[in-house]
Amino acid sequence: MNRRILVTGGSGFLGSYLCEKLLERGDEVICVDNFYTGSKRNIMHLLGNPAFELIRHDVTFPLYLEVDEIYNLACPASPIHYQKDPVQTVKTCVHGAINMLGLAKRIKAKILQASTSEVYGDPAVHPQVESYWGNVNPIGIRSCYDEGKRCAETLFHCYDMQCNLRTKIVRIFNTYGPRMHPNDGRVVSNFILQALQNQDITIYGDGSQTRSFCYRDDLIDAMMRMMDTPDDEHGPVNIGNPGEFTIKQLAEEVIDLTGSSSKLIFHPLPSDDPKQRRPDISKAQALLNWQPSTPLREGLKKTIAYFDALLKTDPDFCRFFFR
Ligand code: NAD
Ligand code: UDP
Repeated sequence: MNRRILVTGGSGFLGSYLCEKLLERGDEVICVDNFYTGSKRNIMHLLGNPAFELIRHDVTFPLYLEVDEIYNLACPASPIHYQKDPVQTVKTCVHGAINMLGLAKRIKAKILQASTSEVYGDPAVHPQVESYWGNVNPIGIRSCYDEGKRCAETLFHCYDMQCNLRTKIVRIFNTYGPRMHPNDGRVVSNFILQALQNQDITIYGDGSQTRSFCYRDDLIDAMMRMMDTPDDEHGPVNIGNPGEFTIKQLAEEVIDLTGSSSKLIFHPLPSDDPKQRRPDISKAQALLNWQPSTPLREGLKKTIAYFDALLKTDPDFCRFFFR
């Protein structure tokens, strides 16, 4: 039987690809988004599909629908975007989770939360394993997102304990790929767009901080597998690619792959910027029978091709840069 599935944040970078994959599998999809960072252009190609429905709605307000499963992705993910309106970010994480959990409880739906490696903060344990409680500043510039997402995890846990809800939590590590917004401000899209235009590559700090980059397709595959785990499996489960690179290495790789003449320039490191990040994915490997299959170089090539085409077809859309 076809499932009817709600994807909040469904017009964003990850949500739009998730909608696409669910439709391909034969599910009906309701995409809910307030277009804060998402864009209609991400889901334009789905609008003619009778199995796809789009609703403009802010998840901080209650929503009444009938669905079998809910993927809760609504939330800006890029630091510059979630820091622009920190109060709204907390509300989206917390009120959004309360509203979606309330909906799941009422209609007895299964619900998955897109949590984040940011719940580990600036981690003192490396690589990060799910049992690590994290090292998060509650009153820094990242707190609206980090603590918002931590509270959302708590809410999922409470609804599971108290209401016996079928909840699932995945902790997503840095994910990149085609359909990232050119103004997203995250490191992969920034570096690629800078390199393709032979502009200076903006490294924050000395570039020695590390991240582990997961290609979008691998991530969505794992997320869908997590939704299909037995009802008593709630997570949290780390999803990411354990390959670890310094930000300087990433810049050099992007320059190499684009053949760019860009130079590296160094800006101050924003406060609370985590020094290192790498997922321990043993749990995902065992539980989901999954591991990422796209090496960084391969994923970067596809992402570069995407932005290269976008610069040629819609240069205005790529014009503005945040830093
Ligand atoms: P994105 O910014 O492209 O997508 C987020 C979507 O949520 C956008 O379409 C936005 O318009 C929508 N949204 C924001 N606030 C909303 C609200 N109040 N009501 C309804 N819609 C709202 O980001 P993304 O990279 O696609 O991230 C999707 C999810 O995955 C987020 O929850 C994010 O925290 C999580 N995540 C992503 C990454 C990553 O590296 N991409 C890492 C960790 C966690
Ligand atoms: N970063 C950078 N230059 C940029 C954008 C980001 O050096 O133009 C750094 C940022 O300071 C961080 C890392 O790259 O150390 C990853 O940043 P991003 O915003 O992509 O995600 P984060 O993991 O910090 O949430």
